[in-house]
Amino acid sequence: MEHVIFVPAIYRVDEISQLASFLSFIEGRITVKDKKIVLYLYSNRKVEDKDINYLKTLPANQIVVSKSEHFSDWEQPYIEAITQHIKTIKPHAVISTSDEFIKSILARVAARFSCGFAVDCTDFIFDEVTQNYIFLKPAYAGNINAKISVKNSSIVFATLKIKNVAECSFENVDRKVEIIESLFEELKLFSGNIKIIEKNLAQNIDNKLESAKIVIGVGRGIKDKENLKYAFELANILNGAVGVTRPLVDMGWVDREYQIGQSGKIISPQIYFAFGVSGAAHHICGIGSPKLIIAVNRNKDAQIFKIAHYGIVADATSVMKSFIKAFKNRLKGC
Ligand SMILES: Cc1cc2nc3c(=O)[nH]c(=O)nc-3n(C[C@H](O)[C@H](O)[C@H](O)COP(=O)(O)OP(=O)(O)OC[C@H]3O[C@@H](n4cnc5c(N)ncnc54)[C@H](O)[C@@H]3O)c2cc1C
Repeated sequence: MEHVIFVPAIYRVDEISQLASFLSFIEGRITVKDKKIVLYLYSNRKVEDKDINYLKTLPANQIVVSKSEHFSDWEQPYIEAITQHIKTIKPHAVISTSDEFIKSILARVAARFSCGFAVDCTDFIFDEVTQNYIFLKPAYAGNINAKISVKNSSIVFATLKIKNVAECSFENVDRKVEIIESLFEELKLFSGNIKIIEKNLAQNIDNKLESAKIVIGVGRGIKDKENLKYAFELANILNGAVGVTRPLVDMGWVDREYQIGQSGKIISPQIYFAFGVSGAAHHICGIGSPKLIIAVNRNKDAQIFKIAHYGIVADATSVMKSFIKAFKNRLKGC
């Protein structure tokens, strides 16, 4: 019998490029021959031609763009559409990225099917014989990988938080992309009842933390929210991104989108700067394995120095300012 994996995704121009990594990761893990990966991309507008061309190269057996004006910033229309599609596709597993919005949608879809849901897993093992999934999720500050199996569930629901698998390779074939208009009665019904009047974004975030090669990490040691501007300036000069420790998010200095670590994002930079970061395991488990870690901390015994390649015992903000000056001079004319 065919083993069907359904991957629902939401069309966001800036994130579509990550689908290749994501699908190849799944495709590499599920080794059964007669598997079928079905990708549905939900969109409320025309998918750009260049993105359609990109979709055609993805490692999925069926690629569908499900278009409806009702898909907006509200979960319910997606819940209705994904429920309908699951009924048609009859997948064994529904696996998506760990995007917060998709997680809140899939949690409710899984509940509708009375199925288990494993979230924020970083990997999984698929048993070819039993066709069971065992998901791996970091626990105890990343010191162990908890094994999660979804039992007594007709469909396995999971979200994966994988690093960008840049080196993924797959057969580059020109596949067909179906475009369907989702005109379910339910979509009309729900969208008729509720209208989004205003959208207030906390911040206009364009940080690209997960794909950045250089990350400027900042912790409570920068002392003042005002000093964050130096981190952004440095990131800008180095063409990198800013990431923070959890206290900075808890204090409301920045949006959660910037948080690195166990309860934040998992990143994979080549160079990681740590300004005023203690080096707590909850944070460090999210920085991947950078080739270079440069840490600035006033406490010479800080945990971060145990993993740093270069350590500077000094005030974080002063060093950030010196780096800005130095890199500006160095990169002049580049
Ligand atoms: C379940 C759970 C999940 C968590 N998830 C996360 C997570 O996802 N991400 C995360 O980051 N944390 C997470 N945490 C919190 C984590 O355990 C740490 O408390 C947090 O990472 C510490 O942040 P920090 O290093 O900025 O602050 P602190 O621990 O307060 O460290 C500040 C550092 O700055 C140094 N410093 C002080 N003044 C200066 C100065 N002027 N110049 C230079 N250095 C200075 C200090 O010596 C210190 O080392 C989690 C905790 C729990 C319990």
